[in-house]
Amino acid sequence: MIYKRSSQLFAEAEKVIPGGVNSPVRAFKAVGGTPIFVKSAKGAYLYDEDGNKLIDYINSWGPMVLGHAYEPVVDAVIEKAKLGTSFGMPTELETEIAALAVSMVPNIDKIRFVNSGTEACMSAIRLARGFTKRDKIIKFAGCYHGHSDSFLIQAGSGAVTFGSPNSPGVTEGTAKDTLLAQYNDLENVKTLIEANKGEIAAIIIEAVAGNMGCIPPQKGFLEGLRELCTANGILLIFDEVMTGFRLAKGGVQELFNINADIVTFGKVIGGGLPVGAFAAREEIMNYLAPLGPVYQAGTLSGNPLAMAAGLAMLQSLNNDAGIFTRLEEKTAYLAAGIDKVLKANNVVFTINRVGSMISVHFDANPVTDFQTAAKGDNETFKKFFHGLLNEGVYIAPSAYETWFITDALTYEDLDFTINAIDKVSKTF
Ligand code: PLP
Repeated sequence: MIYKRSSQLFAEAEKVIPGGVNSPVRAFKAVGGTPIFVKSAKGAYLYDEDGNKLIDYINSWGPMVLGHAYEPVVDAVIEKAKLGTSFGMPTELETEIAALAVSMVPNIDKIRFVNSGTEACMSAIRLARGFTKRDKIIKFAGCYHGHSDSFLIQAGSGAVTFGSPNSPGVTEGTAKDTLLAQYNDLENVKTLIEANKGEIAAIIIEAVAGNMGCIPPQKGFLEGLRELCTANGILLIFDEVMTGFRLAKGGVQELFNINADIVTFGKVIGGGLPVGAFAAREEIMNYLAPLGPVYQAGTLSGNPLAMAAGLAMLQSLNNDAGIFTRLEEKTAYLAAGIDKVLKANNVVFTINRVGSMISVHFDANPVTDFQTAAKGDNETFKKFFHGLLNEGVYIAPSAYETWFITDALTYEDLDFTINAIDKVSKTF
């Protein structure tokens, strides 16, 4: 594959955009080389500025669960755009998508729309703090909840200490209210709760983690968190920005039959337009302005184009009884194929998968948290990434990312991918 025009476009972009990109992972820093500039996409494929066709396993980092340029979404956006692109006033469409989302997701009465997953998670913790009248939150190392200050925190000096900022610009004052726990380690969470009795407003978690590769919750972990939260007056927040409307109609709450107190959404819920949302039972949601004291707002929140895209997407998912089974089957097929060829080529690896989220880690040991995810061999990953790219298969340019499977992928695409992996892994 030739990426001449992409390289030129990147050089131009670097002059006027920091690092040439509007979100850091796009810059290929973890794998080297220069990013590919996309011209268009349809179904399971990306078409870049050099005329290459790539099978896409990123799918805009999750939203395109039904494939790119999915017609019902595109048509809905075009029709709405003709009627005006933003009003800053209520529309019937907002109630329609809210009612549909509330009917699809268990255990929520009301939902509020925002413009990104970051905003959804930021607003959810403000709401949790206002509702519980407590300041601290617990998050898990390796879980990503967007780039708002409270989440850009790394481990402090000891297990029970406060977090410290992991980006300049996040203040120590903010960091002290975020406690960091290990994913899948209930004892660790118990210790933090004991050491901060009556001070913790919320535990926020990617109930199936997708930002350190795909990491499933171990048996009993989410149930244990639920019990700890209930016993200690802490709100349990499931960040379903990745998993919502992807792993099941009702997300992880439905998949594992566990109730969260607040749920956040993004990605799929916007059908590829900038949308996030947070939802909870009525008692909690009524704490938000204008009904309650917790302030939250947005000029473009509930934007008609974004709502039209989201509604078309949710309707498609709601009306297709087989969608989640098909996604599961395709991803399981891919996982089995990858497993077979990597074993045949004597590669050391672990595959993690839940539904249509999958990741390949170049380490023999189980990958269950951030520490074990970090043990993966990044040099092998780099060869894997660039080798696949050269074969026309685009996976995320970072070993810490999940692949997102779309229903637009055919079994021929999956076989093509498995063959490409076979070829590339022979060169390791
Ligand atoms: N939460 C999770 C689980 C995510 O994966 C992401 C983004 O990848 C976010 C929150 C932030 O969403 P956004 O990038 O839309 O702000």
